[in-house]
Amino acid sequence: MTDFHSREPSLEEYWRGIILFGRNVASYKFALAKTLLELKPESGQLLKLSDIAPVFAKNIVEHIKHSPKQTTSPSSSFLKICDSFSKNKIDHQSLVESTVRLGFNNVIEAFHVVGSEEIGKKFYIDERSVNGGIRITDEFSMLLNNEQISNLILEAEARWRLVETAWELNLSSNLIAVNHDSSTNELFTLDGTKRRKSVTSSRHALNGYQKGKCFYCDTAILIDNNLNADVDHFFPHKLKYVPEIGAVVDGIWNLVLSCIDCNRGIDGKFDKLPSLPLLIKLSHRNEYLIKSHHPLRETLINQTGRFESDRKDFLNKIYQKSLGVSFHTWELKII
Ligand SMILES: [Zn+2]
Repeated sequence: MTDFHSREPSLEEYWRGIILFGRNVASYKFALAKTLLELKPESGQLLKLSDIAPVFAKNIVEHIKHSPKQTTSPSSSFLKICDSFSKNKIDHQSLVESTVRLGFNNVIEAFHVVGSEEIGKKFYIDERSVNGGIRITDEFSMLLNNEQISNLILEAEARWRLVETAWELNLSSNLIAVNHDSSTNELFTLDGTKRRKSVTSSRHALNGYQKGKCFYCDTAILIDNNLNADVDHFFPHKLKYVPEIGAVVDGIWNLVLSCIDCNRGIDGKFDKLPSLPLLIKLSHRNEYLIKSHHPLRETLINQTGRFESDRKDFLNKIYQKSLGVSFHTWELKII
């Protein structure tokens, strides 16, 4: 059984760590991540703040239009400027000038901080004091050459949507409950008046936590191609009708991204119950999500238990009940 937490992180894992595990008081980190992926600078290139500002501001303005709350701070002069631009009160040049002046104050130095420390690899070097910008490293250009690059943009966007939704609904993170709609494969939550609010595609939200791979066989998944990935119920959906199991199978804890072959190819899983080693893998996946300080973290805890031992009991209890009605289990066929 491979552990979900690898010992020597790849560049892609470092990048995902920044996006998925950083604590956020504002959405600037997501905006900067998307901006760098969109600009695709080369190794050694100096990106002046004036080069970054137009794309960085564009990303924030796009989000402010649908989610005005982009920070947990009571006010931010930079966000006020982005808001004014989105309402056509200031022109593009003023937006860019203000972004250069105010937009990067807390993000450039904080970008590589995950937890309380900087990560071991840097995607740029801060040269603002000497050259007025950031210098792109070899690590960033190596990241850009990865086949997962299109996923990384979508994941940054998905994580941004989840975080801003939690802020906007003004839900303390222990109250937010994210649900899954199996017909549209979207994650949604309910606002104060119980109106449904779509959060993001469940594919994009789940993908980063599976490191871009099929949950079952580890084949690379490209989520911008819907034909390549299914959102699968690990405990099959039909168990919903088993009296002692019920609707819990619709929880995020039970959703995994699967390649088409594993889910519904020859010898595919379909609605079979997975083997015990796969259950252990699900438990690891969920613990990995819970470590992430992500709105999904609280949803998972609410659905499966406060402590790791409770969550193991929860999974085991459902597994035992499922075995009582499924009789056979499914295992990945190693070719
Ligand atoms: Zn697979």
